[in-house]
Amino acid sequence: MFFRLLSAVRRQRPGRGWRNWSSGRSGVSASEAHSVALPTQAQVVICGGGIMGTSVAYHLSKMGWKDIVLLEQGRLAAGSTRFCAGILSTARHLTIEQKMADYSNKLYHQLEQETGIQTGYIRTGSVFLAQTQDRLISLKRINSRLNVIGIPSEIISPKKVAELHPLLNVHDLVGAMHVPEDAVVSSADVALALASAASQNGVQIYDRTSVLHVMVKKGQVTGVETDKGQIECQYFVNCAGQLLWMLTEGFISGTGRVASCLGALRRTRSPSSLRARTSWRFRICRKTGITLSPC
Ligand SMILES: Cc1cc2nc3c(=O)[nH]c(=O)nc-3n(C[C@H](O)[C@H](O)[C@H](O)COP(=O)(O)OP(=O)(O)OC[C@H]3O[C@@H](n4cnc5c(N)ncnc54)[C@H](O)[C@@H]3O)c2cc1C
Repeated sequence: MFFRLLSAVRRQRPGRGWRNWSSGRSGVSASEAHSVALPTQAQVVICGGGIMGTSVAYHLSKMGWKDIVLLEQGRLAAGSTRFCAGILSTARHLTIEQKMADYSNKLYHQLEQETGIQTGYIRTGSVFLAQTQDRLISLKRINSRLNVIGIPSEIISPKKVAELHPLLNVHDLVGAMHVPEDAVVSSADVALALASAASQNGVQIYDRTSVLHVMVKKGQVTGVETDKGQIECQYFVNCAGQLLWMLTEGFISGTGRVASCLGALRRTRSPSSLRARTSWRFRICRKTGITLSPC
């Protein structure tokens, strides 16, 4: 898998801001790559080069944000993102999650064309089985919500399930829901494609660079301390995955220019409004920056 990631990146032309990775590709030794100097200032520092961090970098740069630095302590997409099964399912209970998944599905569908990096996107469709009437009612509710927001799906009979998947035993089924546009991707490759596009848009990406500490003054982020030096910044986006809490614990206040992204970012009304799975709500806004408030 990792070799596949490397070869995927090798196929891609390095972007303007692709630092250690581009050095590695051109045959420069690891020690030389490590000697690449970090900038001392940035508008936004993103910590974590998983699907979350690369997605934030991609979207901020697309929205016109400048001077963004992404820091990854190891290799890009080598955290949880590397182990993800890559199932892109829109069949979720909350409409906001359905919209988010639908947005991701559409984005990933065209990402390969946009970046030239293979993302492993395959529109497989998905079938959700019901063995009880209660489960079928639950699926019918999800089906209605999907249809309301324009995502094709239908409730199907066990006979139709057998036609779609002849190897399935359908004798104990009372029905099922079919979502034909659901897909699978290689999440690590998607992260690399997002990073590549972000890099082309000017985001500076440094792997093998750890954020050690987030500097805060009067409740506001002023910068980050890394193992390669300090970077002053106005905004810090914490996409450190499972290690996220280690960086922000103890200084998150009611409002502040810091955002923590755990699990999937959930879109709210617009692409610029993001919601974390934690109990903190945050918003990335062009004028006021990233703000955070308790839900
Ligand atoms: C087995 C498995 C199957 C899954 N299947 C699915 C699925 O089918 N569909 C789905 O939607 N989701 C699935 N998930 C969940 C999905 O993989 C995760 O939600 C997602 O990958 C999280 O991405 P992330 O960017 O937040 O975290 P990560 O990918 O872990 O990225 C965080 C990055 O931050 C870096 N980092 C941490 N601390 C620092 C620091 N101090 N300085 C610099 N860098 C730092 C880490 O090195 C890491 O690369 C699955 C997860 C697993 C484990």
